[in-house]
This record gives sequence, structure tokens and C-alpha cells, in this order.
Amino acid sequence: MFQFAIYNSPKTLEEAYSTLVENKNNLILGGTSFLRMGNRKYNTAIDLCNLNLSYIKEENDCFHIGAMTSFRDVETNLALKEYYSGMVGKSLENILGVQFRNNATVGGTVFSKLGFSDFIPVLLSLNTTVVFYKGGEISLKEYLLEEKNRKDILIEIKIKKEFMKCSFQTVRKTTTDYAILNLVLSKTIEDNYKLVLGATPKRALIAEKTSELLNKLKKDKFDRIISEEEFEDIFKILFQEIEFQTNMRGTEEYRKLISKSMLKKALKEVL
Ligand SMILES: Cc1cc2nc3c(=O)[nH]c(=O)nc-3n(C[C@H](O)[C@H](O)[C@H](O)COP(=O)(O)OP(=O)(O)OC[C@H]3O[C@@H](n4cnc5c(N)ncnc54)[C@H](O)[C@@H]3O)c2cc1C
Repeated sequence: MFQFAIYNSPKTLEEAYSTLVENKNNLILGGTSFLRMGNRKYNTAIDLCNLNLSYIKEENDCFHIGAMTSFRDVETNLALKEYYSGMVGKSLENILGVQFRNNATVGGTVFSKLGFSDFIPVLLSLNTTVVFYKGGEISLKEYLLEEKNRKDILIEIKIKKEFMKCSFQTVRKTTTDYAILNLVLSKTIEDNYKLVLGATPKRALIAEKTSELLNKLKKDKFDRIISEEEFEDIFKILFQEIEFQTNMRGTEEYRKLISKSMLKKALKEVL
């Protein structure tokens, strides 16, 4: 279990931020579910619970989801269910139990960039930005490419409202286990495809070249049916641009193999 010497629940974001940067061993608390798995000793723990960061706001052009919003609130939000084929909520349904999802936060998840995350690849397949207190707003894609952890507070994420067809595919040994592979396919009404792979087991990535090829194949074809030869070209590109690796949950070969049927299933769903 992690430990800290001082508990602090600031009344303003400025107070939270100045406490965070005053000592490199100070930290922000989300739902603490991941922090509790470690044994590190910290100086001051900064609880954001008094900063009204638990919300899902729907505006004309985007959804704002506050950093302290629980997975359960996202999963059960009715407005979000109307968008993106309902996959934002669906991607959270298999993460342990309701009790756990009432506690795990959007901020703790996105900030941590965990490779096995189910939520991050879904957000990456949409037009998502992350908003930091000092660092401002950047795309989730750019944020995930940053190697170093920021000393900043994630305030909220923003998802652009778009009518899209989406498919979230996940393979796990048992329902509540970590994913062996996550694959997300989104398609805009202009027929633009975006393919994202997660739990490879590395951090989620957009398969840019494969998405381009899918766009080309789908737009050029009247019947929109991809042949087996074309699928072989798609997988060749996919395996060149995305590094699948082996870990205790699955081998590189197994991940590659299941990605084929996952992509075919996803394509059927978004047609
Ligand atoms: C046993 C277990 C099983 C899990 N299984 C899955 C799974 O199958 N699929 C899946 O997708 N996820 C899974 N997760 C991950 C989980 O869903 C959460 O993503 C994770 O626990 C982090 O959420 P939290 O709110 O508890 O963060 P915390 O543990 O509180 O924080 C995590 C990190 O983020 C930092 N942080 C938190 N909030 C902020 C903020 N607003 N600004 C800046 N930094 C911040 C903290 O300082 C810490 O470094 C699992 C986690 C556990 C513990």
C-alpha cells in the first residue's frame, strides 16, 4: 500500500498546483485504485475532491468530462450513449465490478497512459483533447506520445461531438481480466476510418497507415466489400506500423492472429 505524510484537499486549482510543484514527492490523488497497488512513500497527497471536477457536460460541439468523474458515471451517462455507437460506456463495463468503477477516475486513467487501458484507445479513436491546469489543451494523441510524466493537473478531457459509427473489440481470458488486445475502429459520416490498437501490450496508438489504406479501399469500392487479398495487404501494413509484443497475457503471434478477426468484426459493425 502506498503511504503519504500529509493529506491536503485544496479549495482552488492554484493551491493544488502550487502544492504539487513545491516538492517532487507530492502527488495528486484520483480514485487511488492504481496508487494502492504500489508501495511508494509520498510527501503530500493532494485530493482534488473539493474542486468540482466530477462532471459530464454536453455542449454544442463537445463533451467535457472532469478529471474526478468516475468510470461508473461515464458508463451510465445517457447523452454519451447516443454518440459513438455507445462505445465510450461499453469500453468500461468489463473493468472489474461496479464498486471499482465508482471509484476509478477519468483523470487517474488518462494521466497514467496505462498500456492495458480499455478507455484510452476508445478516446484516441475519437477527437479527444486533454486539458491541463498549466499546460493547457493538447490532443490526446500528442499527450500519449510524451515519454516524461508531466508535473501538472489534468482538469478534464474534451471529446468532439461527431456522428460516427464505432466498434470497440476486446479480447480477454475472463470478463474482468486485463485485455490481451484492444482494437477500436471509428468511421465518420464522411467515411473516414480511424483504427486504434491498445494493450499490444504497449500504450494505445493510431494505426495511421492502415487507416489510410482502409479509407482508400472503402472509398474506391462500389460494393465496399474487402477481399481476402486486400485484407492480407491491410495486415501487412498493420504489422509494419504497430509493434505487437509478448507478455504474460499473450504472445506477439497470438496478438497478431486475433487482431485479424477483431478487425474484420469491427469493419462489419461500422459498415
Ligand atoms: C486491480 C486493477 C485492475 C484494473 N483493470 C483494468 C482493466 O481491465 N481495464 C482498464 O482499462 N483499466 C484497468 N485498471 C485501471 C483503472 O481502470 C484505472 O485506470 C486506474 O486504477 C487509475 O484510476 P484512479 O482514479 O484510481 O487513479 P489513481 O490511482 O488515483 O492515480 C493514478 C495516477 O494518476 C495521477 N493522477 C490522478 N488524477 C490526476 C489528475 N487529475 N491530474 C494529474 N495526475 C493525476 C496520480 O498521481 C497517479 O500517479 C485496473 C486497475 C486496478 C487497480
